[in-house]
Amino acid sequence: MTSAPNPPLPTPARLDRRSATTLGVALLLLVALTLWRLPSDAAATVHDFVGMTMGTSFSVRIDGDLTAAGRETVRDVIQSRLDRVEELMSTYDSASELSRFNRHDTTDPFAASGALLDVLAMAREVSERSDGAFDVTVAALVDAWGFGPGGRPERAPDQTLIDELGARVGYERIVLDHDAGTVSKTIPEAVVDLSAIAKGYGVDRVASDLEELGLTSFLVEVGGELKAAGAKRDGTPWRVGVEGPDVAARAVYATLDLVDQAIATSGDYRSFYDEEGARYAHIIDPRSGRPIRYAGASVSVVHRDCAMADGWATALSVLGPEDGYDLALREGIAALFVMQSPDGFHSRATPAFLERVDTYTEVVTR
Ligand code: ADP
Ligand code: MG
Repeated sequence: MTSAPNPPLPTPARLDRRSATTLGVALLLLVALTLWRLPSDAAATVHDFVGMTMGTSFSVRIDGDLTAAGRETVRDVIQSRLDRVEELMSTYDSASELSRFNRHDTTDPFAASGALLDVLAMAREVSERSDGAFDVTVAALVDAWGFGPGGRPERAPDQTLIDELGARVGYERIVLDHDAGTVSKTIPEAVVDLSAIAKGYGVDRVASDLEELGLTSFLVEVGGELKAAGAKRDGTPWRVGVEGPDVAARAVYATLDLVDQAIATSGDYRSFYDEEGARYAHIIDPRSGRPIRYAGASVSVVHRDCAMADGWATALSVLGPEDGYDLALREGIAALFVMQSPDGFHSRATPAFLERVDTYTEVVTR
């Protein structure tokens, strides 16, 4: 633990959700990445792409030679892939495949895209390994607590409603049939929210599209979830920042170097509201049906797949710095927990985290 003022840097590893300023933040992010490791002679060959998707911003940085036509192709490939993921998985778009599945109030099989089945399968894996701390069937509770498309409710749900909605929750209620290409519900009322994993999945899909175009060195980021493909062309790793769980200011807590790894961050500190003395965070503990208690904590997970990093970061946020740390340790998950306290930030990394990142440097605590 150290003590130093926060530098006025934006935060590559985590960006706000549905914020009007996200595009600006994405641009700052790219500037920040450049500042940290400006290649002396290769600046002209770095190409940046920014835009909006899934209610947040995205940014892509490519270290490679692209013609003007190549740039246009890359721009189209990125945007159409992210639009496609949103069309399939958004709960904010009532025409999305996921919204149609949610309205499918029968236990009959629902024909689903391969992408939706893949994400549901990854979500299932995180649910099983986290003993249900991660559970995409919390959707109805997410809405009731005001973190879904409907916005903030007039008042927090009472215990009767929590029990009623909680009875629909359970990841085993969603049954996948990969051969038939279908997904079904064991009870017609089950509904799914993929917000905790879809951004990471979008990152993975954009990265594989770019690889198919022959690109080998790039960063893809959606709403703060990020993947580094290869190293930079000068051989050095991609350096990214991890934000500390500070409600008041966006501060880079640490930097780390990544090669062919993704990182995702979740926390109780970013999206929440205060009501009658209680602070509600947008992550629901499926065991209680209630939002996790605000404690000023964040979890960053490094994984080869950004979807898995994203899902695990949410799972470990539910469990918190103690139980979450123990689970990450048992499951070999590369996790960094950062906790805010009156005397500064404290952090705890699992051994897998320190193995997976090339260099890990704490830059600021407060
Ligand atoms: P962010 O969306 O800010 O990146 P997360 O990846 O942690 O943060 O996802 C949080 C979102 O996931 C919530 O807004 C909600 O839609 C959904 N969610 C909340 N609790 C859970 C949970 N226990 N398991 C799976 N998804 C959840
Ligand atoms: Mg997540």
